[in-house]
Amino acid sequence: MRANCWTGRNSVEVLDVPDPRILNSRDAIVKVTSTAICGSDLHLYDGYVPTMRKGDILGHEFMGEVVETGSGVPNLSVGDRVVVPFPIACGACNACERGLTSVCENSNPNAGIAEKFMGHSPCGIFGYSHMLGGYAGGQAEYVRVPFADIGPLKITSDIPDEKVLFLSDILPTGYMGAEMCDISPGDVVAVWGAGPVGQFAIAGARLLGAERVIAIDRFPERLDMAASKAGATDVVNYAETPVLEALQELTGGRGPDACIDAVGLEGHAASALYAYDRVKQAARLETERPTALREAILACRSGGVVSVIGVYGGLMDKFPIGAFMNRSLILRTGQAHVHRYMEPLLARIEQGDLDPSFVITHRMALDEAPQGYEMFKNKQDECIKVVLTP
Ligand code: NAD
Ligand code: ZN
Ligand code: ZN
Repeated sequence: MRANCWTGRNSVEVLDVPDPRILNSRDAIVKVTSTAICGSDLHLYDGYVPTMRKGDILGHEFMGEVVETGSGVPNLSVGDRVVVPFPIACGACNACERGLTSVCENSNPNAGIAEKFMGHSPCGIFGYSHMLGGYAGGQAEYVRVPFADIGPLKITSDIPDEKVLFLSDILPTGYMGAEMCDISPGDVVAVWGAGPVGQFAIAGARLLGAERVIAIDRFPERLDMAASKAGATDVVNYAETPVLEALQELTGGRGPDACIDAVGLEGHAASALYAYDRVKQAARLETERPTALREAILACRSGGVVSVIGVYGGLMDKFPIGAFMNRSLILRTGQAHVHRYMEPLLARIEQGDLDPSFVITHRMALDEAPQGYEMFKNKQDECIKVVLTP
């Protein structure tokens, strides 16, 4: 089959690779019909995750048709249409029982590598390096889906792929980012990053009742989308306007009730590098790039919530713990526990409360994945979200 493979820093290639096979009774094989490129894929593309190997198949946002099931997957039949959540989760460990599927204790066979600097291991993730299980990803014609008896969400209506594909990751992620803010009527929420994840954090905050949502980014087309499609009431271009001052002005000097970091490594790429003792490279990145997280903490009103859904790796440098402690702030974080959001958000889509396809700017064939990565990374042609079809 054809699959999009990581072949080095800033390099992916669509190659011929062996088809996946059922390895365990709880596996299914899915023929991919749509798959997307995520901001998280850029961390691999940028070369910030040291446990990638040449030839690893990328992709953790995908959906398709079941073509084979193991004996332990009674819930699925050949021909079923499914969206697959990006965290691989067993459904039965202590974490899964608490609904915390992105920290499943049984899905990462290479847990030891991550534990070195995370204390415990997070879950396995499709197409996301050997540190997170070394699973082949879904930017491919076919993919093996472990724990298929509890993960995939069946789509029984004829709703188009584009409206449900993002249930695999970024819609639950953005929504969870907003849910972690404990929004009350009248609240003001600020969102750093108007990428696809930020767009859904904004939309989630509005669905959950925020009165005002302020989007922060430097790309005008992303800020326009935030205002015209996602529901942002105000936008701040951080390349033109000092963010802390703008937020004070917009909130009567108090600061937003909640601040969502939907930027992650791009705002603090250095953290991953510290973890691998690439201290010089880390320090250079730190001075070159503004740090969204630090800004979110300093901006937040006292007693408010800072919700971190942007992905970080490794150690955090210059974390303003003083502001946190002395101003009674609350920090909430996490890779999205996608499983618990899929059904309720599908219902919201089917009811017409939300059409997540608004983030898609580019549709390409799987074979064009290398151009897709280039465009998405460099924001060429006002690229915001790329969907690939095998
Ligand atoms: P993206 O790269 O398209 O978006 C990031 C946006 O942040 C860009 O528009 C960029 O201009 C903006 N940005 C950079 N520095 C900024 C700053 N200092 N202030 C304000 N904005 C700034 O990526 P995306 O797909 O939207 O993903 C965003 C983040 O969410 C990534 O870190 C990704 O890994 C993470 N993510 C997390 C989860 C999860 O489960 N928690 C899931 C998916 C993605
Ligand atoms: Zn993703
Ligand atoms: Zn589990």
